[in-house]
Amino acid sequence: MTTEIVGLKIWVRGIVQGVGFRPFIYGLAETHHLTGWVRNTSSGVEIEVNGPQAGVFAFLSAIHDNPPPLARIDELHSQPCEPNGYTSFEIHSSQPQAGDFIPVSPDVSICPDCQKELFSPTDRRYRYPFINCTNCGPRFSIIKDIPYDRPLTTMAGFKMCPDCQAEYDDPHNRRFHAQPTACPVCGPQLWYEENGQNLGEREEALQLARQALKAGKIIAVKGLGGFHLACDATNPQAVEELRKRKKRSDKPFAVMAFDLAAVERHCLVSSKEKELLQSHQHPIVILERKPGSAVAEAAAPYQHTIGMMLPYTPLHLLLLEPAPGFPDVLVMTSANLSEEPIAYTDEDAHSRLAELADAYLLHDRPIHMRGDDSVARVINQSPFMIRRSRGYAPDPIQLPYAIPSILAVGAELKNTFCLTRDDYAFLSHFIGDMENYETLRSFEEGIAHFERLFRIQPGVIASDLHPDYLATRYAVQRATESGLPLVQVQHHHAHLAACLADNHWDTDEPVLGLSFDGTGLGTDGAVWGSEFLLGNYAGYRRLCHLAYVPLPGGDMATRKPARMALAHLWQAGIDWETDLPPVEALCYDERTALRTQLTHRLNSPSTSSMGRLFDAASALIGVRQVATYEGQAAIEMEAMADPHEGGSYVFDIVDGLVDPAPVWQGLISDWRQGTSRPVLSARFHNSVVQMVLDVCKIIQQQTGVKTAALSGGVWQNRFLLEKTCAALEKSGFAVLTHHQVPANDGCIALGQAMVAAKADVV
Ligand code: ZN
Ligand code: ZN
Ligand code: FE
Repeated sequence: MTTEIVGLKIWVRGIVQGVGFRPFIYGLAETHHLTGWVRNTSSGVEIEVNGPQAGVFAFLSAIHDNPPPLARIDELHSQPCEPNGYTSFEIHSSQPQAGDFIPVSPDVSICPDCQKELFSPTDRRYRYPFINCTNCGPRFSIIKDIPYDRPLTTMAGFKMCPDCQAEYDDPHNRRFHAQPTACPVCGPQLWYEENGQNLGEREEALQLARQALKAGKIIAVKGLGGFHLACDATNPQAVEELRKRKKRSDKPFAVMAFDLAAVERHCLVSSKEKELLQSHQHPIVILERKPGSAVAEAAAPYQHTIGMMLPYTPLHLLLLEPAPGFPDVLVMTSANLSEEPIAYTDEDAHSRLAELADAYLLHDRPIHMRGDDSVARVINQSPFMIRRSRGYAPDPIQLPYAIPSILAVGAELKNTFCLTRDDYAFLSHFIGDMENYETLRSFEEGIAHFERLFRIQPGVIASDLHPDYLATRYAVQRATESGLPLVQVQHHHAHLAACLADNHWDTDEPVLGLSFDGTGLGTDGAVWGSEFLLGNYAGYRRLCHLAYVPLPGGDMATRKPARMALAHLWQAGIDWETDLPPVEALCYDERTALRTQLTHRLNSPSTSSMGRLFDAASALIGVRQVATYEGQAAIEMEAMADPHEGGSYVFDIVDGLVDPAPVWQGLISDWRQGTSRPVLSARFHNSVVQMVLDVCKIIQQQTGVKTAALSGGVWQNRFLLEKTCAALEKSGFAVLTHHQVPANDGCIALGQAMVAAKADVV
């Protein structure tokens, strides 16, 4: 029997460069005895194979079914061609074309193979803190430009030794074309600095850092996308000292544990949470704290949870290596003063961290792009992003359809920006709260870098409506200077659109958007935040929201839940009786001033904010009167909610307005009867769930809408989200929630881009 030789051309699009795709194809061709070639192109990877039909088909399905772990195939096309008589399989090089672009891989946490070599005494990279391969290591943080080749990364200054070069050139090797590959002979090295003095290098530097950590010192550690401040997480004095120096009073610190076993000593970890911790992104995962954990209270004050992550670089593994008397967990928090961006260059670290760190553990591999750790939580059995950054950015979000090139600048808090090209949305890493010059500069540098890296020249700029956001000002100025059209998108409409895009929503069918958050400027000048919007990418109608209350002191109210509670009581006509917790929290003079402020509406814009409703409830039941970070009062109230409590109160819903007055009366009366805070908290949450369900049903009757889209920071509340989803689904609604991008303002830029794509200007 003769076996006919056939030819097949294959095109692959997606994240297929810098992830070991060509050596994978090479190996696969060998396995199936095929000849031909593979090369990188402007839009992905191109392959031509010759061989028996069965082998060619097996080859094609293996690409589809078992791609390399870091690859993401967005499109796979094939077409028969004439066999071309190749006698072997070859990897061809390719010439980049002007304007070509290709997604860039995010930084990837250390792979199991490299981890094994790191701790294997016979390996030539034994204990080498910068070991990496095609399946792991730095990418986004070291790439200066494309194509992704070593000379265009911050590894350009390190010339490969003959051993590394041989691995790099060998298609059978795990380090074939691994651009950041290095070894102790030719690669980056560590050193340890105290008081401006270099006290040791390489292994000695590592040991000095470990001794200092063990002794309770605070060390600035240069990592993948920036510096961390590290200290012994089980040492209360060290952790409190770190808080004092960072000027961060309550916001939780991230904690890193050597391995899963160490995480489980301190936290309860479900199987989904394990998966997320060990995923190749290695985000910080918010976990339930175990009673009796030795992690210092000060690492996460007033919380039942700890943000935990596993070591994602070889350096972290070496730093946390178990040893007698050495802590099994370290605080690893972004090295910055509160509110500033993370430090990422050595000079920056020396100037900004001098007061914060006792010593530095440094290395000479430069970081080109800063990146904070990502934060996630498991809700309803699936990952839920809170901060999408290291490990995820700049992986593009695949849009439901191609749109023009747009720059969307995002919101004020938890800013990210977004650049689109075809059906890709390049949502940036976490920029931070745009409240100071440093962060603005980081934002501008980030935009310039993305435009260059992905060869995007936006034809439209999109921003929030809020004229005072630094991001909006940047957008207005840039649109003015460039003559590009500016599309200003209402904040809660952007939330709705982001949730649709996150769920690959590709139709114009309107959905019911439940955009619940702390703040966003409305078209009537009020501060919106509990919006029931019937809409799609193109537009929306506002059908219902919480009745307006005054927001005393404007944005300052976020720090004063007690004042927010009194504003709500004032609006509801409920007396400020002196034994109520928020009344007690304010002195007589403060209350008098507040009453005047409310009566005369001094610096008190109207708000329908759901975030502030939660703040008010938290203060009213005595959980928190003063907040040191946004959302703290609500987060602490959620943490204590009794999951077994089923009681609730009833909001008044009249003509598209939701009035919480009866809920306040119910809470106060139960509180007077001595009902516990966990029960009160649960009843408040249940009331909101019931109200959402009631409003959705009313709107469904009026409009026939079948789908609800939940976006906004309020939905980071697991208790609320899980119960709301269950209630809506039980009533026949399809519910869309966020998965790829955060529900908070980290998603706004994506939503702005989707809305702008539908605007007339395009
Ligand atoms: Zn590796
Ligand atoms: Zn080497
Ligand atoms: Fe928002």
